[in-house]
Amino acid sequence: MYLPNFEYFQPDSIEETCQLLSQFGSKAKLMAGGTDVIIKMKKELLAPEILVSIEKIDQLKKIEYVPGKGVVIGSGVIHNDLVYSELLHEKYLSISEAARQMANNQVRNLGTVGGNIGSAVPSADLPPILIALGATVKITGVQGDRTMDLENVFIGPGKTVLTQDEIITEVVIPDQKMTGSNYIKFGLRASGALAVVGVAAAVQVDNNAIKDARIVLGAVSPTPVRAKKAEEFLRDKKISDELLAEAGVIASGECKPITDVRGSAEYRKDMVRVFTRRALRKAIDEGHA
Ligand SMILES: Cc1cc2nc3c(=O)[nH]c(=O)nc-3n(C[C@H](O)[C@H](O)[C@H](O)COP(=O)(O)OP(=O)(O)OC[C@H]3O[C@@H](n4cnc5c(N)ncnc54)[C@H](O)[C@@H]3O)c2cc1C
Repeated sequence: MYLPNFEYFQPDSIEETCQLLSQFGSKAKLMAGGTDVIIKMKKELLAPEILVSIEKIDQLKKIEYVPGKGVVIGSGVIHNDLVYSELLHEKYLSISEAARQMANNQVRNLGTVGGNIGSAVPSADLPPILIALGATVKITGVQGDRTMDLENVFIGPGKTVLTQDEIITEVVIPDQKMTGSNYIKFGLRASGALAVVGVAAAVQVDNNAIKDARIVLGAVSPTPVRAKKAEEFLRDKKISDELLAEAGVIASGECKPITDVRGSAEYRKDMVRVFTRRALRKAIDEGHA
């Protein structure tokens, strides 16, 4: 598997990146860690004439807490930095744990948050937990910046709302009223496997009742999808095993999985039922947003 010829740019600013993407239009492809782009090029699924790498832009590689805004994760942050971030261990262990379940060490040392979102693969592991925590993204293009809820970024498999000259620059997790969150994934191998089903849950628990809940299902619809009926069902109810089991049943009716080599649609629906119950229970018991 050889790479086709291409011209390579490695700008050191966001502005220059957007200008290059605008100037070369559809001939150019944005690349971060390259764990998706390079593999597609080798498989001849992608043949950009120009690769624009954002690997050298240090501004995109920070994880920091900004008072009044929340935890800001640069789009160039690699998965292993999520796994080992002390700030995330303190504030959102569930994000570190989601990253820990991804790929293998080699890919986690290259793959980035922006690439995981930008590839818009339905089985991607980070979007469900980030959406469950109410994340927004900052998108920058030649016309300037815009901010939107992460859950509105995805249009379908491999498709986002970003225009040719735009890149995601940061993901922001706002300060939470949620008291706990969790992401669980089922893959066909213990490590290095894409999700057959991934479920993220975030809950606000008060006095043994659920005040609010967000449930996000991955790998079972063309985009990550909120299980809004299950969320509504849980609101202001006392916590019990029966309640969580019923929420799982409702959530399994809210996805539209496909049958593929990794699992049938029926199997995936049933896994959503089980994993929603488990993700909720962990988010409630571990009480660590
Ligand atoms: C062996 C292997 C195992 C894997 N396992 C998993 C897994 O378990 N879970 C999982 O979720 N993924 C997995 N992946 C997929 C992939 O590694 C991840 O999705 C990774 O996060 C992609 O990041 P990247 O920086 O390498 O993206 P790239 O390959 O650089 O880019 C991917 C796409 O995102 C776009 N992009 C990159 N950065 C940005 C940005 N800042 N703004 C907008 N668009 C951007 C690119 O244009 C491209 O379309 C695996 C891949 C491999 C090769």
